[in-house]
Amino acid sequence: MTQPVRVRFAPSPTGKLHIGGARTAIYNWAFARANHGTFILRIDDTDPTRSTEENTQVILRAMRWLGLDWDEGPEVGGDFGPYAQTERLALYREAAERLLAEGKAYPCFCTPEQLAEDRAAAQARKDPFQGYQRRCRNIPADEARARMEAGEPYTIRIKVPEDRGDVVIDDAVHGEVTIAAKELDDFVIFRSDGTPTYNFATVVDDAAMGITHVIRGDDHLSNTPRQVMVYEALGAPVPVFAHISMILGADGKKLSKRHGATSVEEYRDAGYLSDAFVNYLALLGWSLDGETTIIPRDVLAREFSLERISKNPATFDPKKLDWVNAEYINRMDNATFTQEILLPQLVEAGLLDPEPAVSIDEEWTDRLAEIVRPRTKMPADAAQVAAPIFATAETLAYDEKAVAKGLAKEGMGAVLDRAREALGSLTEDAWTAEAIDAALEPLPEALDLKKRVVFQAVRVAICGNLVSPPLGETMALIGRADCLARIDRARTMAL
Ligand code: GLU
Repeated sequence: MTQPVRVRFAPSPTGKLHIGGARTAIYNWAFARANHGTFILRIDDTDPTRSTEENTQVILRAMRWLGLDWDEGPEVGGDFGPYAQTERLALYREAAERLLAEGKAYPCFCTPEQLAEDRAAAQARKDPFQGYQRRCRNIPADEARARMEAGEPYTIRIKVPEDRGDVVIDDAVHGEVTIAAKELDDFVIFRSDGTPTYNFATVVDDAAMGITHVIRGDDHLSNTPRQVMVYEALGAPVPVFAHISMILGADGKKLSKRHGATSVEEYRDAGYLSDAFVNYLALLGWSLDGETTIIPRDVLAREFSLERISKNPATFDPKKLDWVNAEYINRMDNATFTQEILLPQLVEAGLLDPEPAVSIDEEWTDRLAEIVRPRTKMPADAAQVAAPIFATAETLAYDEKAVAKGLAKEGMGAVLDRAREALGSLTEDAWTAEAIDAALEPLPEALDLKKRVVFQAVRVAICGNLVSPPLGETMALIGRADCLARIDRARTMAL
């Protein structure tokens, strides 16, 4: 029987949640879900100068927006808490004391000057080993204890066993990674100010929390051999590591502010759908089958596997994200689109009263959604596309360029006259998309004009622009009286 999967996402609250961190979170979440495991959120706030409570809140909010529910962590608790490192300081201290007592760690009294001198000397003699020169490794225990008690400043270093040999990490993404024994030095696990280092605190926590798989960015690959040393000293099983590749911008450089928005919040505020955003980020370095691009959350949560993570860096492509987002919108059913996008956007744009006195007809909204949805790439587009339909003959804004191109031209007056006549002959009851299209159909031939020219003139007259949804359906939604009034108003602009 295999052990139940326990994974964690451990952001440092030194800033907002960024694209790279969000992807790491998504992979951990999906891996936990696909294996019926436990997804833990831990706040790695041991860097007191840069960690803030506000950043923690921003990260939690981003996680919630992403829909990455955690089973243990802040706000939900769990059996392995607390889930913020600053609340676990006693545990690190205890673990370090234990290693000291067992002779697996030792206090180091070297001053920064001494260390710098030793480093320079090692460089000068081209010593293949450039790490800590192990000056304090053999200080007798009682002498060391006496110096500590006398108040001499010290750090605590791990004692890498003499005969440890090379460290081989069997990374789930990178395969075997070997770190030569000579590159391992007795690194610091506790600073002289009494705070644990990242490599120590993380392993104490991962061991105590029973983490089985560590999925994180490959910028941490270089920390892993040291962390393996800590697991071994603690006598804890080493988890499976999966180091995921960097995310690059289009220019091949590590994704950063220079490439545009990098925080999850910015994408939320720009109107991206959480599902689409998660789908797109999941594809940055992982694939379902090498070709499927639309992978709904539930499929991701069922099918995610470490085997399909790519070793190669992924390139963040905002255009592809936009495409995925538009796909999600277009795949919504009309009712969902109406509730989640159309109505809120109309209210936001001031086109709809948040609490309309008369409720809008459901059948009418459904028809509206049907023509607006395929033209909505970002939520705000919905209001823009629907704006002419919500205007009236008096309030409709005419786009200058559209008027110049489609209306203010010789012969367009005649087009509007004929259109007015044909449409006017339809009764209120007969005012349907089909009847409107049929009434306008014969005009180009009768006027000896190109179809495009005729319909463009009518479109500008009715919608004030050149890009509205299908004309017949749009006019049906606007209603007969207002359409005729719009043509009358536009007639004064036509030649
Ligand atoms: N707090 C670390 C970071 O944000 C976590 C690294 C890890 O997953 O071990 O990079």
